[in-house]
Amino acid sequence: MKNAAVVNYSIEKGSVEIREIEKPIIGEDDILLEVANVGVCGSDLHQWTSDHSWPVNYPVVLGHEFGGNIVELGKNVKTWKEGDRVVSETAAIINPFSPMSRQGLYNLDPSRKGFGYGVNGAMTRFVKVPARCLHAVPDNLSFEQACLTEPSSVAYNSVVVNSNIKPGDRVIVLGPGTIGILCAAMARLCGAQVAVVGLESDRSRLEIAKQYGCEGIIGDASEWAFRQDGLGADTIIDAAGASITLKMALDLVRPNGQITKVGWGPQPLGFSLDQLVQKNVRLQGSFSHNWPIWEKVITLMSSNQLDVKPIIGGVWAITDWKEAFEQMHSGKVVKSVLKPV
Ligand SMILES: [Zn+2]
Repeated sequence: MKNAAVVNYSIEKGSVEIREIEKPIIGEDDILLEVANVGVCGSDLHQWTSDHSWPVNYPVVLGHEFGGNIVELGKNVKTWKEGDRVVSETAAIINPFSPMSRQGLYNLDPSRKGFGYGVNGAMTRFVKVPARCLHAVPDNLSFEQACLTEPSSVAYNSVVVNSNIKPGDRVIVLGPGTIGILCAAMARLCGAQVAVVGLESDRSRLEIAKQYGCEGIIGDASEWAFRQDGLGADTIIDAAGASITLKMALDLVRPNGQITKVGWGPQPLGFSLDQLVQKNVRLQGSFSHNWPIWEKVITLMSSNQLDVKPIIGGVWAITDWKEAFEQMHSGKVVKSVLKPV
């Protein structure tokens, strides 16, 4: 096949297959990117198993965590050249004139549409990318690592921007997926003591969290949370996909602490929020990322302050997408990475 792509073609569960697609035609403000590597995200898995909670523009090529080389430039693109090594942000379509975009928070522009659900993503050889989405990748950073800039930026936004973590704080991360482990690594960079909490089936993923200097806890984290002074953890980062973990977060957080919720789940909640009030807790959502966050994360990765290699469980050809998805879905690996064929 010339341009094999991993295509999600309908809302039916399991509607993903390899299809041959046309090479995209770029506009004046776009570049054509030849994909080197693309990470598999939890959201790609959710669209595959059809338990996602966002609208998808079927059929769509999956994949929004990617990097590669520029092979073509639109006529208005002056600041990049062919051969440049880049990673791309995910907000493929935004309204640049919306009040959120005007303050640099285009990730929160309601008309935002991302790669892999709103427009064709990067699980293929060529992808059309607006030049405003690009960031340069230093030569010392491999694309296998650089394609994790996106989830690392999600973690940076939730831990560094949307939380207030100080050296010596005790931070609990719920959920040892890619985002959870990267949040834990960011909290370590902020100088916190960090525990990552998962289930029995997360044992191998918790081992990876330990490589970032974190405690790995299966099940009940109360002992760790209350060990210091009996009051609970300063900050809880909820990176689990199940809504019920918010209850756990409310139990574990200390008075005047913060809960930052970055994990999504469509399930409604069935418990009282009285603890939120009684403990004077701040509950903060965190979504996506923007330009300055990407620049900071690339700096952290290329200086090796943030090493994402322990998270990468393997690299598969995109035609072996199913194996790569299944390994991640079962929790055997934290992050699967694909490469075009
Ligand atoms: Zn993602």
